[in-house]
Amino acid sequence: MKYNFNIELTDKCNAACPFCDRTLWPENLEQAELTISDISKFFNGIKVSSVLFNGLYGDPVFCKDLIPIVEYFNFNKTSIEIATNGSKKGIWKDLAKNNVYVTFGIDGVTQETHSKHRVGTNLNTILNNAQEFIDAGGRAVWQFIPFKHNEHAIFEANIKANGMGFEKFISRSSRRYNEECEQPGEITERRKNYKGNTIRCKYMADNRYQIMATGRLHRCCYLPYTEDYPYSKDNSLNIKTHTFEQILKHQMWNEIGSWKMCRKHCSV
Ligand code: SF4
Ligand code: SF4
Repeated sequence: MKYNFNIELTDKCNAACPFCDRTLWPENLEQAELTISDISKFFNGIKVSSVLFNGLYGDPVFCKDLIPIVEYFNFNKTSIEIATNGSKKGIWKDLAKNNVYVTFGIDGVTQETHSKHRVGTNLNTILNNAQEFIDAGGRAVWQFIPFKHNEHAIFEANIKANGMGFEKFISRSSRRYNEECEQPGEITERRKNYKGNTIRCKYMADNRYQIMATGRLHRCCYLPYTEDYPYSKDNSLNIKTHTFEQILKHQMWNEIGSWKMCRKHCSV
């Protein structure tokens, strides 16, 4: 059987987005990072179809071993995606060379509109990085999160994305809003649809798992550190000390669907 994994490589980030878990709950930061040795040891013998390097508390491009880790998966013919704010310099040609599909989170076409949400980032740096990646043959997506202050710029951003050679432009709604980053006018609230009693676990349907920068493996990215999920800090789920086979025997797998977050995200 082949597996899909989301992996948070590090909990470092420069952006300080107001609704990010690392901004809202900094007490959960453990200054954690995965290394090429952690990855190659754990994944030895596991058939992996795809990996998505994402982050609840960090941006994957800030992981010290990012390039060796990407080389490891590319060598093993695994499809690789990265979701990033795109700020780190000097890595883009290597990512393109290793067939990585990159989603850049860019929320405006001026520094002012973009950095109201991506607070600590520089738009020019990100656009230069994206261009370097695309020019080196990399496949890129521009992901735009609309708020009241930037929704007017969405068409201009889409045109800019096409001009730069992004393969796709997508608009994705924020899960949260505040006085600085207000809800845009024309938003569909996904959660309004989630009123049923049946839980359809999206990660299970996709045979997907989430590994955190601490090394702990969970069913999905929504659960860690949520109120009634009891395994956030359970190190018997840690890939640094346990094999996948051992982790799959954990009682957690029998409880999927029972936590509040499951109802919030996956009830249909
Ligand atoms: S870029 Fe991602 S990880 Fe970094 S602060 Fe923003 S949401 Fe959090
Ligand atoms: S929130 Fe629950 S049901 Fe949804 S993907 Fe995660 S574990 Fe599965």
